[in-house]
Amino acid sequence: PTDNAYQYQLLIKSLLLSGARYEPDREIVYSDVMRYNYRTLNKRIAKLANVLSEAGVQAGDTVAVMDWDSHRYLEAYFAVPMIGAVLHHVNIRLSPDQILYTMNHAEDDYVLVHDDFLALAEPLADQMPSVKGWIQLTDQDSAASTSLPTLGEYEALLGAASDQYDFPDFDENSVATTFYTTGTTGNPKGVCFTHRQLVLHTLTMASTLGNYEGQPLLRSEDVYMPMTPMFHVHAWGVPYVATMLGVKQVYPGRYEPNKLVQLYQDEQVTFSHGVPTVLQMVIDCEAAKTADFNGWKMLTGGSAPTLGLANTMADLGVHFITAYGMSETCPILTMTYQRKDEFSQPMHDQMARRILTGVPIGMVDLQIIDPAGNPQPHDGEAMGEVVVRTPWLTQGYYREAEKSAELWEGGWLHTGDVASIHPNGSLEIKDRIKDVIKTGGEWISSLELESLISQHENVSQVAVVGVPDDQWGERPYAMVVPIEGTELTHDMLKQHLMQYVESGQIAKWAIPEKVSIVAEIPKTSVGKINKKLIREQVIA
Ligand code: ADP
Repeated sequence: PTDNAYQYQLLIKSLLLSGARYEPDREIVYSDVMRYNYRTLNKRIAKLANVLSEAGVQAGDTVAVMDWDSHRYLEAYFAVPMIGAVLHHVNIRLSPDQILYTMNHAEDDYVLVHDDFLALAEPLADQMPSVKGWIQLTDQDSAASTSLPTLGEYEALLGAASDQYDFPDFDENSVATTFYTTGTTGNPKGVCFTHRQLVLHTLTMASTLGNYEGQPLLRSEDVYMPMTPMFHVHAWGVPYVATMLGVKQVYPGRYEPNKLVQLYQDEQVTFSHGVPTVLQMVIDCEAAKTADFNGWKMLTGGSAPTLGLANTMADLGVHFITAYGMSETCPILTMTYQRKDEFSQPMHDQMARRILTGVPIGMVDLQIIDPAGNPQPHDGEAMGEVVVRTPWLTQGYYREAEKSAELWEGGWLHTGDVASIHPNGSLEIKDRIKDVIKTGGEWISSLELESLISQHENVSQVAVVGVPDDQWGERPYAMVVPIEGTELTHDMLKQHLMQYVESGQIAKWAIPEKVSIVAEIPKTSVGKINKKLIREQVIA
């Protein structure tokens, strides 16, 4: 190379080039509030960039978003990093104290806030010294009145802005996005991703989703609707992929199961993703009773799907695939991959494999190691902690030197998950290190027990945790939600589990003697089972 060779930087703006070229008339839909095409999307991103620049946003500033899944969020996914600023996805499901903590810790300079979060933001505003301005987001004809000193309402500001913006080139290692782990212990921790990382994540995701089973999961003619919030790990990065490919995108606003099913039907959605608890809520809701889910391609992850859920999905004709990752990893690390002889089997026969965590995708270097750091064999038996290297991992926790060093001990990112790897390459997450139940010197995987209990025909949802026990150290405890209108007792569950004891799948001492039949299981801010809270409730 010569000194003046052009160094093409991997910037988010380059992900915006192709979608509008392929499919200028494809739609971006926001619930029943708004729809427009890709041509307009690109113009609106330029308009938002002008609005932000005119408001005073500089390269390196942080712009926070407090919104449900919307076209506006998608526009911010692009416009904010493309002007060199950092997009902070505020987890609006955290407690007000935690939200205040994250926004101060990230030193947000400007905030885009939806009407629904005004009541939350107003009392916190004077405790956020870094914030210089607010922009109001509304779904109504006129914005709600607020005590926040806003620069104006989003649509009005965009309406008045130019649709031309000369997006600058800069170093691909500039931070593009930041957000906070859901913080089940201690304060939430901030993770950051650069332009380069997001571009490489997007390209690898696109090729992985397109390389599935001879039947791509996401390509141009698909219709995409997320069911993992956009504030949570970039909605698994799919909005960037969909935009690059020119896919029709449907953003559902606040997640309400009946609404999701209605949009799925009205907009003819073909591809979605969500954590298992959200998928369960969707298929259990009233609108689902008359809906046809046949052929819906559904990526699940974020926590282990049970075989019970997977079988229900198979009955409905849903094309069910699992992925694994975490906030620290952008997120995707592994995804279901089946060879031709595997995917030609009947769907029900595939399900035990499909709920495994999948095979590490392209560019992901992944190992399971013992406590001394030795890699373990891929025999489906040996267990170890999952450690990874790939271009799109957070380089640490923002302003948390000690925790960052722990995360990256030995030059690998430590996931805190225990897993085995099967001879066919599939990773099987056994548990989080902190959720494994240690009873009388033996280990029980809480996920395995959940999966077995879920196969009882009257079980809708289940969570298993270890609770302290004087004699055994810990004993398993199960919290179970029955399917509405069915009977479920502790004895019925015990009997159900006995068949797995007899077949040698679990030991007799793995059967929980404490079981609660409940109407609802406590969830985290992103709708996953909240094991910490369950343990606290049981111990109290
Ligand atoms: P939080 O730790 O707050 O839940 P994350 O969304 O980053 O935030 O969660 C990542 C964790 O979720 C992983 O470390 C792993 O324990 C779990 N997880 C993610 N995907 C799967 C999966 N497919 N199967 C089992 N566990 C999963």
